[in-house]
Order: sequence, then C-alpha cells, then structure tokens
Amino acid sequence: NVTRREDYREPDWRVPEIALDFDLDPAATRVRTTLWVERNGTHDRPLRLDGDGLTALNVKVDGAEATGWHMDGPNLVVPLAGSAHTIETEVEIAPERNTQLQGLYASSGMLCTQCEAEGFRRITFFPDRPDVLSRYKVKLTADKTRFPVLLANGDPIAQGDLEGGRHWAEWHDPFLKPSYLFALVAGDLVANRGSFTTMSGRDVQLGIWVRAPDLAKTDHALAALKLSMAWDEKVYGREYDLDVFNIVAVDDFNFGAMENKGLNVFNSRYILADPDTATDYDYDAIAAVVAHEYFHNWSGNRVTCRDWFQLSLKEGFTVFRDQSFSADQGSAAVKRIEDVRGLRASQFPEDSGPLAHPVRPDEYIEISNFYTATIYNKGAEVIRMMATILGPDKFRAATDLYFDRFDGTAATCEDFVQCMEQAGGMDLTQFRRWYSQAGTPRVSATLAQEGGRARLSLRQLVPPTPGQPVKEPMVLPLKLKLFGGFTGRPMCDEQLILLKEDAQELVFENLSETPVLSINRGFSAPIVIETNRTAKDLAFLSAHDDDPFARYEAMQQLMLDTLVTSVTNGSADHQPVIDAVRNTLTDSALDRAFVAEAVLLPSDSFIGDQMALVEPEAIFRAREALRQDLGTALEGEWRAAYEGSLANRFEYSPSAKGARRLKTVSLGYIAASGAADADELAFEQFSRADNMTDRQGGLTTLVNGASPLREEALEEFYKRYQGNGLVLDKWFQAQALSAREDTAEMVERLSAHRDFTLSNPNRARSLIGAFSVNQRAFHHVSGRGYRFVADQLIALDKLNPQTAAKLIPPLGRWKRFDAGRAAKMRSELERIVASPGLSKDMFEQASKSLD
Ligand code: ZN
Repeated sequence: NVTRREDYREPDWRVPEIALDFDLDPAATRVRTTLWVERNGTHDRPLRLDGDGLTALNVKVDGAEATGWHMDGPNLVVPLAGSAHTIETEVEIAPERNTQLQGLYASSGMLCTQCEAEGFRRITFFPDRPDVLSRYKVKLTADKTRFPVLLANGDPIAQGDLEGGRHWAEWHDPFLKPSYLFALVAGDLVANRGSFTTMSGRDVQLGIWVRAPDLAKTDHALAALKLSMAWDEKVYGREYDLDVFNIVAVDDFNFGAMENKGLNVFNSRYILADPDTATDYDYDAIAAVVAHEYFHNWSGNRVTCRDWFQLSLKEGFTVFRDQSFSADQGSAAVKRIEDVRGLRASQFPEDSGPLAHPVRPDEYIEISNFYTATIYNKGAEVIRMMATILGPDKFRAATDLYFDRFDGTAATCEDFVQCMEQAGGMDLTQFRRWYSQAGTPRVSATLAQEGGRARLSLRQLVPPTPGQPVKEPMVLPLKLKLFGGFTGRPMCDEQLILLKEDAQELVFENLSETPVLSINRGFSAPIVIETNRTAKDLAFLSAHDDDPFARYEAMQQLMLDTLVTSVTNGSADHQPVIDAVRNTLTDSALDRAFVAEAVLLPSDSFIGDQMALVEPEAIFRAREALRQDLGTALEGEWRAAYEGSLANRFEYSPSAKGARRLKTVSLGYIAASGAADADELAFEQFSRADNMTDRQGGLTTLVNGASPLREEALEEFYKRYQGNGLVLDKWFQAQALSAREDTAEMVERLSAHRDFTLSNPNRARSLIGAFSVNQRAFHHVSGRGYRFVADQLIALDKLNPQTAAKLIPPLGRWKRFDAGRAAKMRSELERIVASPGLSKDMFEQASKSLD
C-alpha cells in the first residue's frame, strides 16, 4: 500500500463534466452523480472510480441500469465498451457520523466539506486524483429552516423553494478543476459582504460567512481578502475570475483552511477576530491564511498538481507568495525573522528526524501525512532561492510564463523549474537537488586574515536522511558582506555567491582593517551555518550589521553559543549576551517589534536541536539562568521598555503591535529577575488589558510562576470566555506550555476537564499538541508525558486519524535523548503501532518513527 512517484500514469478515463445532486440531511444525505467520461488513449481497461466507505445503491451506464459493475475493495469498477459514456451513481452518506472531518461532515449545526487530498471519494465514486479535471454543476436541496444558506463552488445559477419546508440552489463552476477542490456548505449563516473590482473591471461579490453571533468578528478577514486580491494583481499580474468569492468559517477543521474554487472553507480561528478575543499573532495569521488561500486561486487552482508528489508545486509557491504579501503589509525584516523561527522550529527537526523527506517525495503510504513543514515551508524557501538567483524581473517573467503555459492544466515541479530556467536564462540542473534530496545542508564558513587579504573557506555537507545515505552538493545562494571590525563600516557591497561545490574559496584583497563576516544575510539559503566568528564578532554584528535579519541572527548565535556552553560545562559567561541585549534594547532607532524578536532567547527545543544529546532539564536550567541574569542585570532597561510600551487604547498597526510584543517580552524578563512586584505587574496587565495580546501576555507570565495570582487569573480568564471555543483553546494552551515543573501532571488533569474534547481538532491541539512541544514537560524523566500523549493519540486516532497522525513527530525524536527516555519513547510508539484498528495515517508516522 505504498504509492510511488515513479509509478505515475495518465488516467485511463477523463471526466470532462460532472453533475452532482445532493439531497442534504445530517443523518442521511443522498448523492446522485452523473459523470461524462471519455477513454484516454486506446486501452481496454474498465472505468475505476475511487470510493471510501461508499455503497453503490444504483449504477447506470448511458441511462440504463448497469449490471456489469463490481466492487474492488472500496472502489467501483465499471467495464465500458465505447470511448465515451454517461455514468450515474447514487450513494447515501451520514455527515453527522463523520468524525474524520474529511468528505462531507457536520460542524456546529452546519454541513461542510473537506476534500483535499482524498476526501471526495467519501462523498461519491470518482477518479479522485488531481489530474482529472472536470466542469462541475452542483444542485443542493435541504431543509430551509436548518440550512437557509446553500453554497458551492463557482457562480450561483438558480434557486427555489420546495414543498415540505425544503429549498434548493444550483451552482456552476465554469473552470476545470480536480475533485479535491470541490466544496459545498449548508447552514444557518450570515455574511459580511464586500466587493472588489478587478484590474480588468470585473465586479466580484465577496462574502465571509459565519454564524450570526460571529458576524462582528469578520471585518479583519474581509479587509485582508481585499488587500490580497489587489496585491496579486500588482505583484503577479493575477486577477480573480468568478463573479463571487465566498469564505465560510467552521469550528471543526483538521488544519488551517482550504482553497476550494470560489468557496474557501476556513478553520474559524483563521477568520474570527476582535481585540477582546484575538491576539496580534491571530490577526497576522488570519491575514496570512486568507491571502494564502486566495493566492491558491492561481497557484493551485488555475494551475493545479499532476499528482500528490507535486504538492509543493502549489504549497511551497503559495507559502512564498503569502510570506511576501505579509512582508509588504508591515516590517519585512520582522516577518522574515518570524518565518525563519518557524522553519527552525518545525522544518529543521523534521529534516533531521525519521520522517525526513524531500520537497518532492518519492513515496507515501498516506498523502495526508505529507502536508508538512518540508512541503510547505522548505518548499517556500526553494522558491525564494530561485527568486533570489533570478532577481525580481526575471522571476516575474518566469511566473508569468508558468501561469500562461500551464493555465487549466495539472503541472509538475519540473514544469515550474523549466519556466524559471527559460525566463531566467539559466541552467538549474544542479539546483533541482533541492527537490530530490532531503536534509538540511550544513555549511562551515571560515574567514582567515593574512595582512590586507582575507580568505573565506566554505564547505557544505548534506547529512544522510532515511533512504538517502549519500548526498550530492547543492546550490546554495549565500548573500554575504564584510564589515570593518574597527570602524564598523561595510568593506564591500553585499554579494550573492552560489556555493555549488563541496568546498569553495573566496579571497578579499586590499583590506584596511580586520573584517567581520556577515553571511547568509536575509537567510538567503535554508541551511545551518557554522562560522569561526567569536562572541565579540557576533556582538559587533548584532549592533552594526545593516541587514536586520543578520543582526537578529548574530544575537541568536551569541545566545545559542552561550547556552550550549552553559549546558555542556554547567556554566558560561553571560556578560557578552547581557551587553548585546542592552545595546539592542536601548537603541531607540530600532523598530520595537524587531527589538522584541532580537532579545528573545532561543527556545528550549531549538537549543536542544544544537546538541547531539538533548538534556531537557539542563537546557531548561541554563536558559532560566541566562534569563534571570538578563532580567536582573537589565531590570531598569526592561522597566523602561515596559513603560515605554504602554499604550492608551488598542490599535492594530505595526507600531502598536511592536509595542505590545516588547511589553510582554519585557514583562517576562522582569518576572525572571525575581522582582517582588512582578506578579502584580503581570496581573495588572492581565486584568486591565483592552486587548487579548496583553491579556494573554499577562496570563502566560503568571502561568509560568507560582504566585496565588496565577490561579486567580486562570479562573477569571476561564469565566470571562466560557463558551468561546477559540479563546478557551488559549486557556488550555497557556497551561500546556507552562515552564512549571508540574506541567505534565496539570495537563493530565486538564484532559479530564469538562471543556476538553478530542473531537474538536483545535482543542485537541491546544492541549496535546502544545504539551508535546513543551520540551521540559513532555520529556519529564518519568516518561509520564510520553504515556499521556500516546494514550490521547490512540483515542484520537479512532475519531480523526489525520489530526492524530500529525501529533506523532515529538515522540519520534527518541534518538536524540538518553537511553532511558529513548526506551520509553520507543515503547509508546510500539504501543501505538500495536493498537487494534490503527489507521494507515498513524501506522505510517509511528512505524517510520521507530526505524
Ligand atoms: Zn496551501
């Protein structure tokens, strides 16, 4: 049951048209489907229609009851004599019993769909693969009181009332699309409506659909949608193509959102926002996800994927597009820092662990398991590198060529790279290794000075990954610059060099002072870089580099070096970090948001990622000791920054966001200093806040500590937001992420809380997902964290395999831990693999994690 990329074959049958007729009911929905099929080429193979849990009630060929068909496992096989036929099928499904949240399911009283990757086959029999493109006509019939709104892809055509309190609506989508982009929604919904006029003058009606009480929380998403539509016209020349664009928010959703043609379906956490319930992080994420799904209309829908191995063709490219969009809305430097932080937190560990896979994988058991940080975020870095290598004008010419050449088709990563080569006028043969080789390249950069000359020696190494023991050198675009160690002046313009060999050397002549190396500026390549820069060099760059990312990076490296030394030796000199942090914190020319990012210590798990053997307690202690020293030594500066960041009234703007971020970061350091008034300060921030960012900042600071105000804040927060699921998720998450010693125990208790449920993915992730990335708590030496997570995942798998399987990776990191922990982690993985009725999603993740 392994699917291999090399086995790709064109579909035997095309389905140029499909008509779907839904008689909707939560307990029993009837689906009548008509397919117009055409034989693709000359062969005598029957028509095979994928199904998943479906029973054919009726099969007709060319209008007559068919008899020759049979089931092959879950699939329907219909032998056909001619080259073009009409096939009709009928099935009955029960959306209210669909706990997997794939296919047609019920969420808070409405009916909605999720088809990517292979959910359409849970709705009707169909060749459920992305290279079968069809024109869809959809008719929906339902009870008018329970489901007054009936939505599907494309444009609305007609609607009407029926007797017995029922009504119907018909939607046609003129664009060819694969089945994974099909969607319908039925429910008691209201819309925040808007409109957008495209660059060619088409008027588009926009609607953000939610339940009535949530209507007031949709303005931000609607505004983000309009900004996205304008941005894609301006930056990529891409225009919207239907008369309507609808977005629906649903409470139960396996991931972020889905780009169904003309009818995006979203996890409500990426739509709903107001200052009282959403943090700045939420506001930013909403804009980014709205943009992401909107951008898929071209990078995903107009040009789709030939097969699921090409997933990064649409996801990597679309993430790159949404990152660029967000960068244009505020501080590009801060956005880049956040994206790199995210890549290091999720993709680097994946790339160095048992689930490492290339951006274009070679095989899978369950495709849902490949919606990963590698496909999405490393994929985005691969596109970004091509954009860097080509430069903006050629890159734009290349994307124009790509959209033009492949519009209306199902394309491959190779097609994309060929457009880059052609429009860029360059050979990307070696660059293609980014698609085929897994693993994060490691580069060592050594700068040696001899008089007025400096020699930079670069070496690259791509580590072995499962199934790929030996690697070829990659093309690494490295932006670099030298600064005078004495004057701080740039000694050359920024250069872009392409490291292509295992080893390369660069010589700089006529240097008038000792140079300091700034390399991989802007994180131009997604690699790990080791340099021979001293603590002094790093401190110097953290103050003088003219690339904000490089400044941040120098500070992070300084902190990391200090922390790793501290873990290894039991102590380290904290003074260089203290001085560098003071320097940044008191530099009033710097953007507050940048300062907040720069002064934050690397996370426990990122520190762990630097070490061959992760020692959770020692890492925690080293980090706490540095935090405490920073807090104490700079207490006056933290207080000044805190007070300087107090705003009068909530406002969502880059500068107000920056101020709030720095405020809570400063609060954390004041608390770390052990100051007597720290708890009161946090509680005051918590209770006086007029926005969720400050309130959550106060709460999480208290939740890490032991003050009696902790319980008071938790209780007050809970009471205030009872009934608001998205905010209660924050309440669970804050406790699961707590730095307290007894977190594992508390999380176990919280799993019995009356508001905890595994059937809502957001809630499951807010407790189980958050806890399992809390390095100290999850890796409690007793193994109780492992046992707890395994118990929960075994239970969750019975309801929702996709969401359960996504939570396996923290258990798979056992190789990096001491023998005692590793054995305990393995035995939980073994218990998972042995559990009866295990899904293939979980089987793939858990069994690969044991290898
Ligand atoms: Zn996407």
